[in-house]
Amino acid sequence: MEATIAAPTMKEVTQAAWNKRPLIISGPCSAETEEQVMATATQLAATGKVDVLRAGIWKPRTRPGSFEGIGTKGLPWLQAAKKATGLPVAVEVATAKQVEDALHFDVDILWLGARTTVNPFSVQEIADALRGVEVPVLIKNPLNPDLELWLGAVERVAKAGIQQIGLIHRGFSSYGNTEYRNAPMWHLAIEMKRRNPQLMMINDPSHICGRRDTLMDVAQKAIDLDFDGLIIESHIDPDTAWSDAKQQVTPARLGEMISSIKWRTEDISSEELHANLEKLRQQINQLDDELMQILSARIKVAEKIGQYKKDNNITILQTNRWNEILERAFKQGDKLGLSKEFVTKYFDAVHMESINHQNKIMNS
Ligand code: PEP
Ligand code: MN
Repeated sequence: MEATIAAPTMKEVTQAAWNKRPLIISGPCSAETEEQVMATATQLAATGKVDVLRAGIWKPRTRPGSFEGIGTKGLPWLQAAKKATGLPVAVEVATAKQVEDALHFDVDILWLGARTTVNPFSVQEIADALRGVEVPVLIKNPLNPDLELWLGAVERVAKAGIQQIGLIHRGFSSYGNTEYRNAPMWHLAIEMKRRNPQLMMINDPSHICGRRDTLMDVAQKAIDLDFDGLIIESHIDPDTAWSDAKQQVTPARLGEMISSIKWRTEDISSEELHANLEKLRQQINQLDDELMQILSARIKVAEKIGQYKKDNNITILQTNRWNEILERAFKQGDKLGLSKEFVTKYFDAVHMESINHQNKIMNS
């Protein structure tokens, strides 16, 4: 009898993609026509740079009247694209019915959009629909910069028994923002990563930038910050896209972008580079320890001043003195190459901590 090697199942292909680093997801903002989905998918597959095909089927639009997605009718198109290319497919779901339909048409990865993560009722409805199902789920950050909402969504989906959860950082909306469509607020993504080191974190330059000319900068920055992958929208004819036309790129351009990104994580694989980095990191640790010691010494002096103010019935806040401290700090900061913004934030924090300590002494 001839030995046959079984072709990998779609589940195995999806698992391999889920575990790959960097994970690259691309595809149109919206599935529009069967031809558009198939052409985008085949061109993306031809680049050899893409692991998962994305497409919006139901589009949560901010204002009514714009294209709200092709709906369930587009799901067989994705099935066909998957069959032709072997790429697993990912779709955004916002209701229990959408979860049911997506799973019925073998969607491999589901994601929760920013307008869903923001609403605990919607997240819970989706989580309930996912109970007993084994499917990887990506969770975008909520529209507003609220880590608790993002964490809450992760918890609701995890409690439903979903084992494979990933995060997508797509930036945060604000009124009158011009540089970005959604401000990245990198520190929030970094904090979310710190609190959930076991979850993959991928970056969505498309919805952060809202325009194609700045995608590369954001993508590179995410990779420099050790993100696990990227989700970038692509379209066979971006300018004519039915949604998010300004931010989409052709599959060929997507391929070029992925090729030109400098994948820093690979660079530290060499022992010497790793050792050098380690040495520098130890210096940072050492300096941080010293800074903490100095800050603690500063607080002790502030406490002595607090006692003196108490004994002599003087207010804690002396505005003139505070202005004098800031003036000195700005001058010094300027000489030392520290930005005014940083010096202000730093001194505000130090000052607030001193006030809190003095307050305790005053009222003890
Ligand atoms: C999308 O990915 O097309 C989308 C609607 O994104 P977001 O939820 O980030 O706005
Ligand atoms: Mn979009």
